[in-house]
Amino acid sequence: MKRILVVGGGTGGTIVANVLARKLSRKEAEIIVVNDSSKHIYQPAFIYTALGYNLKERDIAREEKELLNKNVKLIIDNAVGIDVENRYVALERTGKLDYDYLVIATGSRIVPEEVPGYQIAYHFYSLEEARRLSKVLEEFTGGVIAVGIGGIPYKCPPAPAEFCCLLDYYFTRKKMRDKVEIHYLSPLPRTFPHEAVAEAITEMMEKKNIYWHPMFNIESVDPEKKIVYSLEGESLKFDLLVMVPPHRGAKVVEESGLGVDSGWIPVDKHTLQYKEYSEVYVIGDATNLPVSKSGAAAHFEAKVVGKRIYADITGQKSKLVYDGRVVCFCDAGFRKAIYMDFNYENPPKKPRFSYLWYLGKKMVNKLYWSLILGGTI
Ligand SMILES: Cc1cc2nc3c(=O)[nH]c(=O)nc-3n(C[C@H](O)[C@H](O)[C@H](O)COP(=O)(O)OP(=O)(O)OC[C@H]3O[C@@H](n4cnc5c(N)ncnc54)[C@H](O)[C@@H]3O)c2cc1C
Repeated sequence: MKRILVVGGGTGGTIVANVLARKLSRKEAEIIVVNDSSKHIYQPAFIYTALGYNLKERDIAREEKELLNKNVKLIIDNAVGIDVENRYVALERTGKLDYDYLVIATGSRIVPEEVPGYQIAYHFYSLEEARRLSKVLEEFTGGVIAVGIGGIPYKCPPAPAEFCCLLDYYFTRKKMRDKVEIHYLSPLPRTFPHEAVAEAITEMMEKKNIYWHPMFNIESVDPEKKIVYSLEGESLKFDLLVMVPPHRGAKVVEESGLGVDSGWIPVDKHTLQYKEYSEVYVIGDATNLPVSKSGAAAHFEAKVVGKRIYADITGQKSKLVYDGRVVCFCDAGFRKAIYMDFNYENPPKKPRFSYLWYLGKKMVNKLYWSLILGGTI
């Protein structure tokens, strides 16, 4: 019997464990997921939380146990060391766990403290902070709202642009749009990494009177003067600053010496294997792959890895590889959204804003908890 150890029970870790548990019997494999919390949080719900949508608790978080196939063992513990040489993972309370196959799905962490003056800013990259931001927005009486990015890469590249469009919708519904100036500080020369998508987002922003600033890579904030400064020498005075915090790989990845740059694990872009360790796979935000840090990428990667490990255990040679696929819905408010579907070879085309994609986004939010996490779609 083989032991498959999955570290991280977020989007990618849950899907890979469920795919494997459906394919392999208990006699063939012991599948273990280690997660540092008993709760599974749906991060896309944070934006809606910040904007005061009345979400049910079950739309935001559920017990991880209820999301896993009954053949998966869940250990709630903190992984403190990953030793790929000696094939074990050290857990804070449980001790060492060895493995035949390891899937690292530890996601990313946010490090707001890396931007001087960040304490005055708000964000929607944790549930707690999204709730804090929702209170401030509720009490906001007017002025300049700057929405910026504290470092690249960060989770869900369209999220800050989407947030600007939804702010426009939020204040329009409150009948005070004329009292609010929305500024989007883009770290790129355009509004989105892909040119065709940027074209659509720019048009939308201009239609909505959202001011956007190209090449505004945030360097620091002066909390007293309420001014945000860019590395390029620009500055903007604000009344409310919303800033995506800088991201890094998980602590355990950095401390185990597996990460490069800000703690992202170098991985083969097709097989998702780590260096020469063919039994070690890495998926989702934890990788240094040239794809968006997104649940969609984690989802497609998890399915590939699940099938590859299954093939290996059952003596087949899997040729299945990850092609870099990402799909993404971006809500523009007023019941309109865009949809993108792209991969390593095929960049996205210019998307159209439509009600259909808005419904698509709502459907994904629902299907996440069942068919997506279950690994059936
Ligand atoms: C505001 C916001 C909006 C978003 N919107 C979208 C969207 O519309 N579409 C989309 O596709 N994506 C979206 N995302 C991104 C998406 O949520 C993430 O990219 C996705 O969850 C990544 O999956 P993952 O499995 O790599 O990591 P995660 O889902 O973050 O899971 C990592 C897990 O590992 C655990 N962990 C970490 N370290 C340890 C340790 N040492 N020991 C044990 N457990 C550990 C964590 O607790 C967590 O449960 C959004 C994110 C945010 C913040």
